[in-house]
Amino acid sequence: MAEKADEWGSAIDTTRPSIARAYDVVLHGKDNFEVDRAFVAEIVKVIPEIYDVATYNRQVLGRGVRYLIEQGITQFLDLGSGLPTVENTHQVAQRANPESRVVYVDNDPMVLAHGRALLAENENTAVVTSDLRDPAAILADESVQRLIDLGRPVGVMLVGVLHHLHDDEDPRGIVEAYMAAVPSGSYLFITHFCDSSQDSRDAEKKYLALLGTGRFRTVEEITTFFGDAELVEPGVVPLPLWRPEEPVPAELTVGQRLMFGGIARKL
Ligand code: SAM
Repeated sequence: MAEKADEWGSAIDTTRPSIARAYDVVLHGKDNFEVDRAFVAEIVKVIPEIYDVATYNRQVLGRGVRYLIEQGITQFLDLGSGLPTVENTHQVAQRANPESRVVYVDNDPMVLAHGRALLAENENTAVVTSDLRDPAAILADESVQRLIDLGRPVGVMLVGVLHHLHDDEDPRGIVEAYMAAVPSGSYLFITHFCDSSQDSRDAEKKYLALLGTGRFRTVEEITTFFGDAELVEPGVVPLPLWRPEEPVPAELTVGQRLMFGGIARKL
């Protein structure tokens, strides 16, 4: 990977873990550095199931996108989209409806490098390298303006990312700004680290100390992000319980309760 870092330039910092690359580690990807793997090794000491947690998140992302397609959503703003992996939002959405339009937003420079290659042939999909904490800039971005018609319902996705925003960065206000820009009938899809066990609180300490972000919020705090939008069944729940397509065990493990999520419709 050292050569690749040179190829992508100095924007890639290989001296400290990045959120996108650490997530790539737990998804068994190849786009990560020793520093990212060392970070994940520390998290494994607290949450041995962390690799499974990433899988639950990717699985619910697929179920959520399919649900949104069923509701007639054809345009997606995927904020904090991560490095391309399997079953990315545009692949799930365009399989169901080839006309689906997807704009990925991420502030990690490696996401753009990989995303460009992945999407070179796809005129209905774009990758924007920007910070989602600036909704006005994202909404004014050329790719968003070109692909997303803000006069029609949008699927706004903040999957696995809001916990990387600190409380003093006003995550609630940021979500509200995106939802204010989209019309009634739009949907908000959130998954989030949850304060659901002593292990989750220990994990939060490690994330904050080693990565600098990672707020494990309570179910009530996560629910607040949906504001006035109407939560669809089953509400904000542990990820394996959100519209499962396979039987789920009656008792969930720490890892199965580590992330909660839900989808709500703007009235
Ligand atoms: N949404 C994908 C998923 O759930 O599979 C990826 C989740 S990954 C854990 C979080 C992503 O959010 C990372 O790729 C990271 O670079 C990105 N991210 C974190 N903070 C961000 C910010 N302020 N602006 C844009 N992207 C951000």
